[in-house]
Amino acid sequence: MSGPPPPVDADTAGWWDATRERRLVVQECLACGALQHPPRPLCLTCGGVELGWREVGGGAQVDAWTVVHRSAGPGFDPPYVLARVRLDEGPLLLSRLDGPPGHRCGERVRLTWSALPDGRHLPVFTALDPSAPNKD
Ligand SMILES: [Zn+2]
Repeated sequence: MSGPPPPVDADTAGWWDATRERRLVVQECLACGALQHPPRPLCLTCGGVELGWREVGGGAQVDAWTVVHRSAGPGFDPPYVLARVRLDEGPLLLSRLDGPPGHRCGERVRLTWSALPDGRHLPVFTALDPSAPNKD
């Protein structure tokens, strides 16, 4: 899945810059400490506008998923799995989900990266080996 490069704006620039170093970050409110994603101009919890970035560990679990059968445009090669994952730090994130078929909600996934032509990276999550012991 590649497609046209995703757009960058003032709110998302810091997020995209981190992906150049394959670091996944979420917004952190400097007033109340809430974490949120995707990046926004203000905190959804307290309305604060002083926001920073917190690097997250890349662990997550599947919150919802679907199989995309129709291409969203050039470079999107169906079928692929689109998932909403809940990061261990709390925020939700939409991502492609790789790994063997038969995903389930609550399944543990880990972060990998897909390179974009301009040096940025897209976070992609991969299902952990289901035969591995569950450490939750
Ligand atoms: Zn806040």
